[in-house]
Amino acid sequence: MTTNTGEAMQPLIAGNWKMHGLASRLGEIEAVSVSIRARPIYADVLICPPATLLARAVQAAAGSIAIGGQDCDCESTGAFTGDISAEMLKDTGACAVIVGHSERRQRHGETDAMVAAKVTAAWRAGLLAIVCIGESEAQRLAGKALTVCGDQIAGSLPAVMASSAVAIGYEPLWAIGSGSMPSPEEITQMHQHIRQCLVAHWGAAGKLVRILYGGSVKPSNAREILALPEVGGALVGGESLEAMDFETICRSVPPA
Ligand code: PEP
Repeated sequence: MTTNTGEAMQPLIAGNWKMHGLASRLGEIEAVSVSIRARPIYADVLICPPATLLARAVQAAAGSIAIGGQDCDCESTGAFTGDISAEMLKDTGACAVIVGHSERRQRHGETDAMVAAKVTAAWRAGLLAIVCIGESEAQRLAGKALTVCGDQIAGSLPAVMASSAVAIGYEPLWAIGSGSMPSPEEITQMHQHIRQCLVAHWGAAGKLVRILYGGSVKPSNAREILALPEVGGALVGGESLEAMDFETICRSVPPA
């Protein structure tokens, strides 16, 4: 996977399988991986399966696709039953982790401060952290989307860490799994705002952080979304489960 350290960085297409997938689904990863080896793709491709599949997913990906976790604890080790550290993810062969997904913020009460601690943990372990932010429908209707997302970035990024270890996933809550989406103008406006926040946080290095759009991305809309200014990739939920759909989305990235 390319890193945020130079101009040659490619868009990142990340699939989030959520709590879907038994071993029988590993063939989907293998199919995407075989196809990428046969015909080049102009993006970094990452799949984040459930933790139970990570090690086998790394095998199935055979180096053509990066594999990542969907969450990590902020501690590296300890008496924390059921939790998984960033170091444990790394140990499976994973190279990235999603943190602060809205489903975790909502179902597990994760706050910006908890997310920031997880981002630090990912950095410590050498994983790319995909930091998710996004406004609710009520917040957008109230005209607060930019402020809410700016505040989430400020609260979820640790003060001291390298920008190269982070990507941002902008996922409006109301667009996740709903088929609804912001307009191209709204996506552009938000991504430009996020860029300003990243530059305020990191200076010039903030210009290199990839900002992924997530929420109802599918084969039929990926090309248009990925061509928008400041869209550096996509975070894909439901449509990442089937190899053919996910590959079509990955192939929607034009050559540089
Ligand atoms: C997600 O939850 O990360 C997501 C983007 O889901 P979907 O693509 O299904 O809207």
